[in-house]
Amino acid sequence: MAKPLSSLPAHHSVAIIGAGIAGLACGQVLASNGASVTLFDKARGPGGRMSSKRRPSATLDLGAQAFSVRDADFQRAVDEWLTAGCLAAWPTCTYQASSRGWQAHDDGQKRYTGAPRMSALTRHMADSLTAMPNAELHTGTPIVALEHSPNGWRLLAADETRHGPYDQIVISAPPPQAHPLVKPWDDALAAACLTQEQRACWAGWAIFDGPLPAIPGVDPQWQMARLADPLLNLTLNIVSRNQTKPGRNAQPEGVSLLAQLDWSEAHLEQSADAVAQQLLSAFKRILPSSAELPPLVEIGAQRWRYAQPSTRCEHDYLYSANGLALCGDSFRDGRVEDAWLSGHRLGEALIGRSVQ
Ligand SMILES: Cc1cc2nc3c(=O)[nH]c(=O)nc-3n(C[C@H](O)[C@H](O)[C@H](O)COP(=O)(O)OP(=O)(O)OC[C@H]3O[C@@H](n4cnc5c(N)ncnc54)[C@H](O)[C@@H]3O)c2cc1C
Repeated sequence: MAKPLSSLPAHHSVAIIGAGIAGLACGQVLASNGASVTLFDKARGPGGRMSSKRRPSATLDLGAQAFSVRDADFQRAVDEWLTAGCLAAWPTCTYQASSRGWQAHDDGQKRYTGAPRMSALTRHMADSLTAMPNAELHTGTPIVALEHSPNGWRLLAADETRHGPYDQIVISAPPPQAHPLVKPWDDALAAACLTQEQRACWAGWAIFDGPLPAIPGVDPQWQMARLADPLLNLTLNIVSRNQTKPGRNAQPEGVSLLAQLDWSEAHLEQSADAVAQQLLSAFKRILPSSAELPPLVEIGAQRWRYAQPSTRCEHDYLYSANGLALCGDSFRDGRVEDAWLSGHRLGEALIGRSVQ
C-alpha cells in the first residue's frame, strides 16, 4: 500500500474482476454512488463460491452451505435480503457425528442460506446492480491481463477482447488468481497475494431415489451434520441435505458431502468420479451399519482449489496508489460475511466514506 487511498471522483469508471459476493458488494456501493461499474467473471454466472449446481431433479449447494452474521452493516444487508425473499434461516436441526454416535448440536448462532438455492442471493445482488443504468456484468469472461496507459486501465479477456479504459480496477478473485494480474504492475500487491495461501476442498454430492434411512435417536428431518471426531472419519467434514433447505422440499433427497481440507489436499488431483465414490463411502460409514442407502440417481464432485484462506489478513482490503485494489474473503476470515464486508468496505473507501 503506497499511500492512503484517495477517493474516486464521481462518474469515474471501475472494472471489478470477480462477481462473487465481495465483487458484487463493492460494485453495489460504487454504482449507488455514481461510479460507472463493469463486473467481469470467468464463470457462466455470478456467485463464485456461493454458486449452486443445477441437475434435472435437484439443485445442490456445493460451496457455502449457510452463513452467520456478526457485523451490524452485514445484518442490515441480510435483513434486506430476507425481505426480498432470496434468503431464509437455515439450518435449525443440526447434529454432530462422532465415535460416540450422533448428538443434536446447537451453537446458538442463527444461520441463513439462499432461497431457493444459495446462488439466489448473489443472483439477486447481480440483478439489483445491473438494474442501475451505470452498472453491467459480463459473465463467461476470464480476464487474463491488465494493461496500463495514460488513458487508464484496460482488461485483456481470454478471447483477446480488450475492455476499458477504466480509472480503477478492483480484483475480488482469490489471491492466487489475482497474482498474475497484478504482478507486472505492483510489487507490494503481488507479494501480498503470495502470502495469502489457500486451502482446497472437494465438495461431493449425491441424489437418491428415496429418503435416507432412519438413524436411531436422530430427528428424521435432520438438516446438517458435522463430523466432530476425526477418528470416526478422516474424509468427510460436513453433510447437508439440500431438500431440507427453504423452497426445495419438492426435490428428491440430495446430499452435499464436503470433505476435510487435509483429505481434499491429499486427493486434489484425483478424478471427480473417484472422489465422489470415496465421499459416498465415507458418508455410509457414519450411518448405522444396518442402514441401507436408497438407490442412487446421480453422484459427482467439485474441486475447489481455492476454497478458503489458511491465514487471516490484517486488512479488510488492499490497494495501491496506481488504481489497483484487492478484496475478497481472504482479506478477512474466509466466510461469506467476511467477503461481503471486504467488498463493501473497499467500495466505501473508494468513494471516500471510510478508510481502514
Ligand atoms: C466448499 C465450501 C464451503 C463453504 N462453506 C461456507 C459456509 O458454510 N459459511 C461461510 O460463511 N462460508 C463458507 N465458504 C466460504 C464462502 O463461500 C466464501 O468466503 C465466499 O463465497 C467468498 O466470496 P468472494 O467474493 O470473496 O470470492 P469468490 O466467491 O471466489 O468470487 C471470486 C470470483 O472471481 C472469479 N474470477 C477468478 N479469477 C477470474 C479472472 N481471471 N477473470 C474473471 N473472473 C475471475 C471467480 O469465477 C469467482 O466468481 C465455503 C467455501 C467453500 C469452497
